[in-house]
Amino acid sequence: MKNILELKDLKVSFDTFSGEVQAVRGVNLTLQKGETLAIVGESGSGKSVTSKAIMGLIPSPPGRIKGGEINFEGKNLLNYSKRDMQKIRGKEISMIFQDPMTALNPTMKIGAQIMEGLIKHQSMSKKDAKQRAIELLELVGIPNPTARVEQYPHQFSGGMRQRVVIAIALACNPKVLIADEPTTALDVTIQAQILDLMRDLQEKMETAIILITHDLGVVANLAQKVAVMYGGKVVETGTVDEIFYNPKHPYTWGLLSSMPKLHNHSNKLIAIPGTPPDLSDPPKGCPFAARCPHAMEVCTEYMPDYFEESDTQKTACWLLDERAPKVKPPATIGI
Ligand code: SF4
Ligand code: MG
Repeated sequence: MKNILELKDLKVSFDTFSGEVQAVRGVNLTLQKGETLAIVGESGSGKSVTSKAIMGLIPSPPGRIKGGEINFEGKNLLNYSKRDMQKIRGKEISMIFQDPMTALNPTMKIGAQIMEGLIKHQSMSKKDAKQRAIELLELVGIPNPTARVEQYPHQFSGGMRQRVVIAIALACNPKVLIADEPTTALDVTIQAQILDLMRDLQEKMETAIILITHDLGVVANLAQKVAVMYGGKVVETGTVDEIFYNPKHPYTWGLLSSMPKLHNHSNKLIAIPGTPPDLSDPPKGCPFAARCPHAMEVCTEYMPDYFEESDTQKTACWLLDERAPKVKPPATIGI
């Protein structure tokens, strides 16, 4: 199947007073129509920066794309002008941000906020856009949409606001939807409802989704493919089954071990000991070496290549080299 989106060796840096921070260091990812790819990892792993780069939203300066390609339907978005990117953003590729309160304009009626993109990108008349706004609110499960379009964000609950944000993101039938921690700000019951909604919408509209999250429960619920990021790199990719049931990277083991088990009511990850690498002076070898219980001499010297466990699973870890000692994943992984 053809990829709708393909990142090739994407590199993004930020210039700071203390030097260059290499936030994304050569990321390769693919996304197909109707597919959900989850990008997981701790904060600072480069997952949000990757998604902002796809949207053309890296603030420059201090940010800059240092290299690579972002191919959308076969065309490299990095060659697009700012104006051309504006045409793509919100129409072909749109984004749901983490916090529904900051994503909405408090001084504008909900209906007008949904209509904005429709009028701008679809050249709809005001009347048609309003009708479509009402339909969209209905689609995302907001009761009494005809009255609701006339209301302001503060008249909506947190969960309802996030539904509105999703309605805005979906207004122009985007081919790719990027959801950055879409449920983090919401309580657990509402989270489940929003995830159900996203799954539903995806089935109906065949939108491809990139889901950025640190919550592996959300991944299991929604994604088909997973990319695990660490230190600005993708350290392992695979199908959801491969990542959950046959993970090969010690960092993925750490993430899965720290995942709350069933009957544990906390929804937060328990941290893996140690801190992520300083990306203003990134390690030349494996980014996880300083925290990895299985690190070998080679790990600090050379960045591991991707070893292919299957057509879909690729892991950057020296343990998969045939000369490495055989190490078993810890018994603590698994749901
Ligand atoms: Fe650990 Fe080495 Fe594998 Fe990195 S390459 S995860 S340090 S074993
Ligand atoms: Mg983030």
